[in-house]
Amino acid sequence: MTISANDDRKSGAGPELGRTLEKLYISYSWICGRILEGEAGRAERLCSVSVGNFPVIAPSDDRPPAQSNAIKTCPTTGHGLVPPDRYDRPNRSQSLYWRQYIRNFRDLLAVGIGLCACGVAGQALAWGATGHRFIGRLAVETLPMDLPQFLHTPAAVEAEGELAREPDRWKGSGKIHDADRDAAHFLDLGDDGKVFGGPSLGDLPTTRADYDAALRAVGADSWKAGYLPYAIIDGWQQLTRDFAYWRVDTAAAKGVADPAHRAWFAQDGVRRQALLLRDLGTLAHYVGDGSQPMHVSIHFNGWGDFPNPDGFTKDRIHAPFEGAFVRSYVTQVSVRAAMTPYRECQCGIDARMREYLAATNQMVRPLYQLYKDGAFGKGDARGQAFVVARLAAGASELRDEIIDAWRASATSDVGWPAVKVADVLAGKLDPFDSLYGED
Ligand SMILES: [Zn+2]
Repeated sequence: MTISANDDRKSGAGPELGRTLEKLYISYSWICGRILEGEAGRAERLCSVSVGNFPVIAPSDDRPPAQSNAIKTCPTTGHGLVPPDRYDRPNRSQSLYWRQYIRNFRDLLAVGIGLCACGVAGQALAWGATGHRFIGRLAVETLPMDLPQFLHTPAAVEAEGELAREPDRWKGSGKIHDADRDAAHFLDLGDDGKVFGGPSLGDLPTTRADYDAALRAVGADSWKAGYLPYAIIDGWQQLTRDFAYWRVDTAAAKGVADPAHRAWFAQDGVRRQALLLRDLGTLAHYVGDGSQPMHVSIHFNGWGDFPNPDGFTKDRIHAPFEGAFVRSYVTQVSVRAAMTPYRECQCGIDARMREYLAATNQMVRPLYQLYKDGAFGKGDARGQAFVVARLAAGASELRDEIIDAWRASATSDVGWPAVKVADVLAGKLDPFDSLYGED
């Protein structure tokens, strides 16, 4: 595939996405490159808008233009396909993302749901890079001092900002990888508090397998309906485990008698710290998704074909809302100022997660009402305040879940045979056999 330099520029005359951006009062201009060798062998054009880098393919035949988050162009150079921070090998990524885009585009045509379904799981990023980065950074930056010192560094704050984006950046790895994970980012929650009329958010089955079975009973499954609640709990349980191992490694590296054991624990602590940072980033992503109202609703990209007495928009507002609007009008400082104090849940992660996602779902109607009122216009404080509050809710919840994971790790077990973290911290035993492995 080759792409020519800018061969076409249009202002304000794009297809459907452009009209949506216009309604959000986000200025843009189309920058188009001619693709000389698309997968179909036809000359086609790939276009982007200068704000948010939303790519649009404009086929040379009579197929309609379509949007994809999977590929981006670089408005400054005009004809780059992939953003420079996505992979180290842009040439490989170019073809990878191009093939993914074509596949998604064909899927949309094949099932006849057209452009309105662009917000389905595989495409939705929620938030864009900017929103996820803010949430990851701010949660770590505002952790209390009783958490480990390695989290209280500028490097850790920066790392979590970037690692919070990882579940979006790993998209495109391959069909099996993506098909299983894409539905982790959302939950198609109905206005009745139920998922596809089946399981309700307030009483979700304990495991994802049970959840999937409950959905199949109503003709859906967890890949269609999304499984964000389980992704959040999975991430929290992993982080708690990481903290528990880190506590044991750190204590045993100083406290056990055998110098060889101490050396091994010190090394294991380094490994655990790296794992923990990565796992924290994964949790950060899904908690972040959980603060975006359209990721916790059947109205995920416009109100859709549901009862609509208030006349809410059916425009595809998902991507411009979470990406371009945030990047254009929201600052990290304003999000930090809107964060709330630690919320003591006095409940398990299951209940905490349910309360959090239910609160986000309550913001769906206000979001659509604000859109209807024109509150996402440039300079309109109402739209900005809403988005700032949503991002702050995500950052606050993430910080609180990290704190809870740290605390829960103190009373857990690790290794096999299992040893109590508290016993190791109290110097009661050398847990080497349990952690290094007896077999
Ligand atoms: Zn996501």
